[in-house]
Amino acid sequence: MKKINLGILGGGQLGSMLCMAAKKLDIDTIVWSDDPTSPAKEFSNEFIFSDYKDNEKFNHFTKKADKITFEFENIPFDILDKLNSIKEVLPKPQINKIVQNRILEKDFVNNQNIKTTEYKKICNKDDLISNAHLLPAMLKTATLGYDGKGQFKLNNLEDCKNINLSKNTNYILEKMVYLKKEISVIITRFKKYEYEIYEPIENKHEDQILKFSKIPANISKEHFSQSIEYAKKISEKLDYIGTLCVEFFIDDKGDLLVNEIAPRVHNSGHMTINSHNISQFENHIRAVCGLEKVKIFKLYNAEMTNILGKEIIKFKEKKLKDNEFFFDYLKKEIKEKRKMGHFTEINKIND
Ligand code: ADP
Ligand code: MG
Repeated sequence: MKKINLGILGGGQLGSMLCMAAKKLDIDTIVWSDDPTSPAKEFSNEFIFSDYKDNEKFNHFTKKADKITFEFENIPFDILDKLNSIKEVLPKPQINKIVQNRILEKDFVNNQNIKTTEYKKICNKDDLISNAHLLPAMLKTATLGYDGKGQFKLNNLEDCKNINLSKNTNYILEKMVYLKKEISVIITRFKKYEYEIYEPIENKHEDQILKFSKIPANISKEHFSQSIEYAKKISEKLDYIGTLCVEFFIDDKGDLLVNEIAPRVHNSGHMTINSHNISQFENHIRAVCGLEKVKIFKLYNAEMTNILGKEIIKFKEKKLKDNEFFFDYLKKEIKEKRKMGHFTEINKIND
């Protein structure tokens, strides 16, 4: 049988880990990225560097790839849609249109009768001031933000007056949630009502960037089952194929709110490489390539720490114990707060 060649848009660490999982399944990968220093270059069978608008590269990519997926959600919808007209893109590009816009995303979640924090679309200073009842709040660009980029904390009217809003940019103002906890649920949907779901993961962020994740999450049974039900409902409604992550807030009243949906493999699920029989990456590939769904099970409890910026230097020298795993993303340049690698510790499950 001919080997499957999976096209992956984007070449960051998520792309690298997808390529590694593909190799395990004897699937070839062709990565297309607009960054010549992409880490995934080292792990893919073929690497294309160009702007995503390059027609020649587009033709080459669509000719070589049997199926196409992506590792980051900020790829313009038009490009995904055009690719999809030639070779199937999974998850479907229409999903991205909703999820890459924080306003449409929250509208969608609320339409499923799932709560989010209160929010308003903001186009200018006047909008901001007339929605001051939401303060303290987070102002975020409606599109293109990640890892805290494009986010501003606004505590009072003075902050609203002082902030510089870019012209022609839509923002969302989100009422600040008093966080008791953050959790995420990673689900891989294969087809209608067919999923593999990882147990909820407990997350800690620093400066809006994920720092630490662990399983099991220290949460109530209700939050455990409710978050899984919500993730199922969301993936079903989106007719999603592949791995998806739903990020949740648990507020000071104990309410479970959806923070955001990531239509891709997710940083909080990196531990699944070591904690489960099948990782979130392998499951994504299995689902988008139409391979068999295998029941997942947990081998170990796990804790994952993100390695940011210069922290990578000491990890490179760290002596690892048998239950410790260090992943170096092989990024060429160390930048402050940049995700450079991650560290996972696994531990026996004590029932
Ligand atoms: P990103 O797309 O960068 O992951 P998020 O919207 O998930 O952006 O925000 C990153 C983190 O910032 C959240 O996980 C949370 O810790 C904090 N945060 C964002 N929005 C809010 C909010 N409305 N209330 C409280 N904390 C927030
Ligand atoms: Mg997030």
